[in-house]
Amino acid sequence: MNILVINCGSSSIKYQLINREKRKVLAKGLLEKIGEINSSQVHRIGGKVVKKQDEVANYEEGLKSILALLLDEKRGVIKDASEISAVGHRVVHGGEDFFHSVLIDDEVIKTIKSYISLAPLHNPPNLAGIKAARSLFPDVPQVAVFDTAFHQTLPEKAFLYALPYQYYEKYKIRRYGFHGTSHRYIAERAAKFLKKPLKELKIITCHLGNGCSITAIDKGKSIDTSMGFTPLEGLVMGTRCGDVDAAAALFLMEKENFTTAQMDNLLNKQSGLLGISGISNDLREVQKWVVKGDQRAKLALEVFVYRIKKYIGAYSAVLGGLDALIFSAGIGENEVNIRDKVCQGLEFLGVYLDEKKNRARSKASRFISTEKSPAKILVIPTNEEEMIAEETWRIVNKTVNGESGIVNSKKQTARYNSPELLK
Ligand code: ADP
Repeated sequence: MNILVINCGSSSIKYQLINREKRKVLAKGLLEKIGEINSSQVHRIGGKVVKKQDEVANYEEGLKSILALLLDEKRGVIKDASEISAVGHRVVHGGEDFFHSVLIDDEVIKTIKSYISLAPLHNPPNLAGIKAARSLFPDVPQVAVFDTAFHQTLPEKAFLYALPYQYYEKYKIRRYGFHGTSHRYIAERAAKFLKKPLKELKIITCHLGNGCSITAIDKGKSIDTSMGFTPLEGLVMGTRCGDVDAAAALFLMEKENFTTAQMDNLLNKQSGLLGISGISNDLREVQKWVVKGDQRAKLALEVFVYRIKKYIGAYSAVLGGLDALIFSAGIGENEVNIRDKVCQGLEFLGVYLDEKKNRARSKASRFISTEKSPAKILVIPTNEEEMIAEETWRIVNKTVNGESGIVNSKKQTARYNSPELLK
């Protein structure tokens, strides 16, 4: 079964065509600058890189262009569009309605639309991608996989902010958490590695990329996570500040006469590693300047590491112990020094880093703790596309093959949110 995984950003389409049985990526690519004169496309198809530049007016044209390449006589990997059996969409915000992936129908689309105000930059392009794919593949089942879904198991005490309760009721202001597909994927992979069922494990997953978040996972369920109402809260990120006293933002708005949009830009785009170092949002760049002795770069790294460490302590307390600490994404998978600094001094939690294993370069999942470390430390490369494909396969199998076809959405939503599907 070939599954097309689509991740639509503000003017981009990232995709992978995955053959599930062979666990093989047949083609993948990125189409950027949709709506501009020179949209750029980079595809890796049948082991070769194909670059294109032409005008792509909208998401539907973008998908058509991708499909044409997949079907291309010379370079293509499928002979007919019917070889695509399902489409899996990354959807950022599913609010409180979806605690796992669902088959997309009109009702589901309406619900995703209702969360646009909570994810104005993400849900509209996600919806545009869904619309385009439905029109291009009208008979193919389409599945939405939500970034927020995995964190819907957070207990109230972890997701509620201590604001007047009426605003939770009125606007649904609460912690949602993001990167859920990644946290779930790495936790499941870790359990396989540890040769133990997830149900017996207390895990902390650190997704450290441009966006960073950390999650406490007890018996396979997310019980707390650092990102909140939006992906701004929690760890220090490339350009996002993470935790900050809300009063500091109010103070700045008053003193600097910032509008809401300016304040939003400052917190999301000018802070984090970039804000403190004044150099870059890219950790590799910041590290270069640390080596040159730049004090602000050094400080940026110290704050970055300290925040992660603080969360590991907090989440170990919340979990009541720790079986595995996992590093993933660009920084987590590659930055030896960051892993080293984060783990230093965590021996009291049973976390013992093996320096040699930590320094060994590898792209594979691996242990980096000492043999005797009570809590295991692992590096697990994340793969959100694989998880989306797997979810798409699971949902399609349960509904289209296993039961009486695609049912009406109300029933469907109720059924999809049933504990049975969480198994
Ligand atoms: P995104 O959240 O955009 O997917 P990534 O997971 O690619 O981000 O992570 C980007 C971050 O990882 C950057 O800060 C970058 O400096 C850091 N990084 C460190 N080493 C590497 C590497 N070898 N390859 C890619 N990113 C790396």
